[in-house]
Amino acid sequence: MLDCAIIGGGPAGLTAGLYATRGGLAEVTMFEKGMPGGQITQSSEIENYPGVTGEITGMDLMMPWPEQCQRFGLKHEMVAVKRVSRKEDGTFVILKENGETEEAHSVIVGTGSTPKRAGFKGEDQLFGKGVSTCATCDGFFYKGKEVAVIGGGDTALEEALYLAKICTKVYLVHRRDSFRASPNTIARIHNTKNIELILNASPDEVLGDAMGVVGLKVVFKDGTARQIDVPGVFVFVGNNVNNQVLIQEDGSFLCEMTESGEVQVDISMRTSVPGLYAVGDMRVAAPKQVVSAAGDGAVAALQAISFVDEKLN
Ligand code: FAD
Ligand code: NAP
Repeated sequence: MLDCAIIGGGPAGLTAGLYATRGGLAEVTMFEKGMPGGQITQSSEIENYPGVTGEITGMDLMMPWPEQCQRFGLKHEMVAVKRVSRKEDGTFVILKENGETEEAHSVIVGTGSTPKRAGFKGEDQLFGKGVSTCATCDGFFYKGKEVAVIGGGDTALEEALYLAKICTKVYLVHRRDSFRASPNTIARIHNTKNIELILNASPDEVLGDAMGVVGLKVVFKDGTARQIDVPGVFVFVGNNVNNQVLIQEDGSFLCEMTESGEVQVDISMRTSVPGLYAVGDMRVAAPKQVVSAAGDGAVAALQAISFVDEKLN
């Protein structure tokens, strides 16, 4: 029986592992389907992790984290988790993809999220080389330059406003002529001089090579096309939360979720199920940053320690 099972080995899961083991839980295993580190390892540069200065890749940043955790006794099992469920006595059951199960007194889930791709030509090939899904992370690289933003929801509009403060011009490309965002945000978009709206237009192809992006070709509803010469293309067409491990055999979720599939948690990362915590990108109102994911992991681990203590003593 594990004291704590951690699902996912990104910044949130690894920090949970560090705090849970260092805080005194004896049996803690992190189930991570790949190499630990999470989605930030795809980033070619990270500049906003406090205290880390100089040029550093996401991989460089995350490299020492697993070793630090292992020093305090965190075990890592490289396996995908299929489902987390709960028995009547409150014990959690972790079903792994290989069919084996583990039992745990508490579970911290940090399986992250996956930004949706829009599906235009070159998007996958140039992802991380000029195509991005994170303005907070990559916007600064385009300081004083022009960029394109794709999408018409709250995220696209808010990120376009953010980028408009850094970049000389933002082309906001949306496939319809109306936005699905809050009226206040839409008004701010209209009032921002260096945002040009390109409406009724879908991205067709991002142009560039291994050296980076040079432009975006969009196609309008009437069949005409336009090329925008930009070194950066930001795609905000929604996010998929990786919540699959919480789906039960009958199709219901193990705990309370939001309408868009994020895990509902309180300020201590507690879900609606005692002993079950959700951290990082997958929880409601996540800032989707490494530093906040790590913070969530610490908060949840401290909660799990108290929960297990109370349960066993
Ligand atoms: P993730 O990092 O997504 O980690 C989740 C982990 O869970 C993954 O390792 C995954 O393999 C594992 N997993 C998923 N499902 C299962 C399963 N069923 N079983 C076992 N394991 C599973 N943030 C910043 O602060 N600064 C930046 O500059 C920055 N740049 C970014 C650049 C890019 C290209 C991207 C994609 C993101 C960037 N981010 C940045 C955002 C940051 O990476 C995330 O907010 C952060 O990684 C979230 O951490 P997490 O632990 O919640 O989830
Ligand atoms: P979203 O609301 O689902 O919007 C996605 C946008 O991308 C839509 O405009 C959609 O176009 C467009 N799109 C989808 N697939 C596309 C494709 N393949 N090619 C081109 N365009 C495509 O996603 P979101 O903006 O990330 O927001 C998610 C949720 O979080 C929403 O409920 C939102 O209100 C909320 N949110 C709230 C705030 C806030 O309150 N401040 C901030 C951010 C997000 P269509 O419009 O034509 O469908």
